[in-house]
Amino acid sequence: RMFNELQELKGNIRVYCRIRPFLPGEAAKHTTVEYIGEHGELAVVNPSKQGKDRRRNFKFNKIFGPESTQAEVYSDTQPLIRSVLDGYSVCIFAYGQTGSGKTYTMTGPNGASEEDWGVNYRALNDLFSISQNRRDSFLYEIQVQMVEIYNEQVRDLLLSDGSRKKYPFYIRNVEFFRPISFYKVCYSNEGDTIILSNILFPLDLHTLGIISTVQPNGLAVPDASMHPVTSTSDVLELIGVGLKNRAVGATAMNERSSRSHSVVSIHVRGKDLLSGAALHGNLHLVDLAGSERIDRSEATGDRLREAQHINKSLSALGDVIFSLAQKNSHVPYRNSKLTQLLQSSLGGQAKTLMFVQLNPDVSSYSETISTLKFAERVS
Ligand code: ADP
Ligand code: MG
Repeated sequence: RMFNELQELKGNIRVYCRIRPFLPGEAAKHTTVEYIGEHGELAVVNPSKQGKDRRRNFKFNKIFGPESTQAEVYSDTQPLIRSVLDGYSVCIFAYGQTGSGKTYTMTGPNGASEEDWGVNYRALNDLFSISQNRRDSFLYEIQVQMVEIYNEQVRDLLLSDGSRKKYPFYIRNVEFFRPISFYKVCYSNEGDTIILSNILFPLDLHTLGIISTVQPNGLAVPDASMHPVTSTSDVLELIGVGLKNRAVGATAMNERSSRSHSVVSIHVRGKDLLSGAALHGNLHLVDLAGSERIDRSEATGDRLREAQHINKSLSALGDVIFSLAQKNSHVPYRNSKLTQLLQSSLGGQAKTLMFVQLNPDVSSYSETISTLKFAERVS
């Protein structure tokens, strides 16, 4: 109770810092990290400076040093995940320059064994096991979406043939626990325009799984296919497909994953079978585009355009979280696709966690400082 009240006072935004270790084969092994305190203090040093400018101090809710394991990181994330089953909206972001460990924290290394799983697999695993334990009186439905935002365009990563248009339906007032039923559907062609139709469609749970829905309370969910999942292996498979689809762009555009945001959205609906009370929670797991500054004198054409889109969306995200932390009455959600997509899960009762990822090497010093400044502003 005390703990909850404290959290309430501090607002619903947490910032954790994670410093990745040096990797085998990395040449320069000089670290900028001088000190990691027990209560989230961090000191970084600039080797080329003298005097008081040499050292800078930062403070986080929590710091994970190079030795910390995936399990340790998750154990401080788990309470947030559990609150999704109580009907909360939670957003978890990984922010940092390319190569700082964002994907490692959110997903894990390529072909990870269970021990190396990142937050998204562990979170889903937890959601399944807890929801199954509660099953006596509660029925849960879990669905997953996965999208990529590249140059302010949202792409569904779970439609393998890319033919999103096959499912141009939006649904309102979905009654989840009546599998076969008739629904009034809304029809949409492009973007945000939704046209109400008066036709009643028979839909089964499978069909529900592949169309985008508008949640019963009117909260928008990403315009992308929904996939019901019932086990961790379903999720491993789905996320595997998503990652593969994300990589498809990469052959054409070299390392695209570092220049797009990927969002795994998990929707949980629960119903108390005795009282009939229903709740739903959301969890968005966001692996952000690399935050590194692109040299304007060198970037041209597509590369410059990408850089401008990334810049714009990361600063829009920073502005939104900053306004929320300041408890401003106006929160500028409309300034990027990312913040629009996550609007209903940022602010209000929603909980936000940002992993600030650092590469410890001196060669990354200036990126490290700009990452830390971003974090300082939002925390
Ligand atoms: P990003 O997604 O920010 O570009 P990655 O997650 O791909 O960075 O990490 C870059 C490299 O560092 C990868 O080879 C990854 O496996 C490794 N790495 C990142 N964080 C850790 C960590 N905490 N422990 C071990 N290896 C890590
Ligand atoms: Mg990555």
